[in-house]
Amino acid sequence: MTNLQKEIMNIKKDKNIKILAHNYQTYDIQQIADYVGDSFYLSKISQELDCDTVVFCGVNFMAETTKMLSPDKKVILANEEAYCPMARMISPDDIIKFREENPDYTIVSYVNSTTETKAYVDVCVTSSTALKIMNQIENKNILFVPDENLGNYIAKKIPNKNIKLWEGYCNVHDRVTTEEVYDLREKHPNALLLVHPECREEIVNLADFAGSTSEIIKQAKESSNDEIIIGTEVGVLDYLEATVPNKKFYLLSKHLVCPNMKKTKLEDVYKAVSCEGGREVVIEEELMNKAIKSINEMIRLAE
Ligand code: SF4
Repeated sequence: MTNLQKEIMNIKKDKNIKILAHNYQTYDIQQIADYVGDSFYLSKISQELDCDTVVFCGVNFMAETTKMLSPDKKVILANEEAYCPMARMISPDDIIKFREENPDYTIVSYVNSTTETKAYVDVCVTSSTALKIMNQIENKNILFVPDENLGNYIAKKIPNKNIKLWEGYCNVHDRVTTEEVYDLREKHPNALLLVHPECREEIVNLADFAGSTSEIIKQAKESSNDEIIIGTEVGVLDYLEATVPNKKFYLLSKHLVCPNMKKTKLEDVYKAVSCEGGREVVIEEELMNKAIKSINEMIRLAE
């Protein structure tokens, strides 16, 4: 560990701070985090934390979800400018208008949405829970927002549902091209290709496996294959290279680097644990009471 990492470890211990980091954070941040995982894992962990303050290393909607699930704790987003562009591709006004025009639809939102949007939808899902949750919705008519690629991936698995898709996208995963897949397949013909369903359908169709970040990590670790192409954000590849040294990992595309996830640096984490930086998450009570319902429903249906 570097001196800065050691200092962060000492401060968080002294101040009873827990650090949560998404899998897409750089590996030096994953190393000093108490918990590292995908959105669903971090949401679940948020409810069980025994600490006064949480420093969140990820993007703003994730820190806001943590705050909603741990309202009595101080939650600090380590880099105040880290946000998910896809979360801004749908607004509460869009949801209100759709409901007025389509009152017989259940509205499902990917957790990558703003707290304001979450306040108007019926249930949230993560990529690891979407299929399980949407299978349990009794209504045949579902609107899925905002990620069209993930929604399409789930819709194909449950053809009995009438699923409308919003035209949002992740500007990282959506940029992967079929040419990049063919190129990597040619260079590494024995490698297993694992992709995230935020990638476009033609990429998912060419993969050996599609799943959430935690499912990709599990597959990569448990597969007997010792060469693996990673079709999700580079933070997952960094983690696998550091923790599974006997296998070879290749990044599917140079585009798989999320600029917002990479805004958080170790220096930001140091400032956040020292109470000299980051942004404390504050959510107005009425908004929180409305938005938490779709999060709680997600956790209930995912159990
Ligand atoms: S990887 Fe995509 S979905 Fe995830 S935070 Fe970055 S832009 Fe948003």
